[in-house]
Amino acid sequence: MSISSQILHYQNELKKIGSAKLVAVSKYQPNAAIETAYNSGQRLFGENKAQELQQKAASLPTDIEWHFIGHLQTNKVKYIAPFVKLIHAVDSLSLLKTIHKEAEKNNRSIDCLLQIHVAKEETKFGFSEVELREFMSDNAYSEYPLANICGIMGMASNTADKHQIEQEFDEIVRMFNYLKANYFSEKSDFSEISMGMSNDWEIAISKGATLIRIGSSIFS
Ligand SMILES: *Cc1c(COP(=O)(O)O)cnc(C)c1O
Repeated sequence: MSISSQILHYQNELKKIGSAKLVAVSKYQPNAAIETAYNSGQRLFGENKAQELQQKAASLPTDIEWHFIGHLQTNKVKYIAPFVKLIHAVDSLSLLKTIHKEAEKNNRSIDCLLQIHVAKEETKFGFSEVELREFMSDNAYSEYPLANICGIMGMASNTADKHQIEQEFDEIVRMFNYLKANYFSEKSDFSEISMGMSNDWEIAISKGATLIRIGSSIFS
């Protein structure tokens, strides 16, 4: 399948289903592939290397919404702070603090999501449920309001077990609801649930994802 036909396929599917948005994960892709997707109407793109994203953003259309989707080191925030639309995977107070400081330097606020770790794999980043509850109850996050917390992000295990994936997405949604009810009930822009990739996006949508992150099935 070509990049264009895949973009149109996802856009059509999402239109049928409702309000979820497609983040086309263009990591490892050259500008030409991104331009092809752009010319098919795609505007949200996700990258996971800060300097590479900085270069791509400088040379591609300015109405692209750039999402940073992977683990972000604090010393790399500066490269993307002027323009990034959403940082998906905040997993520490020090990262939140750095995002706040870099946002301030750029006279803006930067939207971000808290990453929760629900998958069984050891290597994935993110807060456990217990850590995330502690992180919130500690209240230190509120000192960094320019890092604007808009929701939650997670990844399910890389498994063929559909039931397990469903349970893990349920956990993410339960945590979103917990945060909304206990900390962000007055904050209308606390509204995003980023979950679902090429192999499990349909399950993610059925569980309430508002952003899906699709790479390989578009670009390869
Ligand atoms: C690479 C990546 C994706 C896209 O995964 P695919 O399986 O290629 O669709 C989504 N989210 C994150 C955090 C990624 O690193």
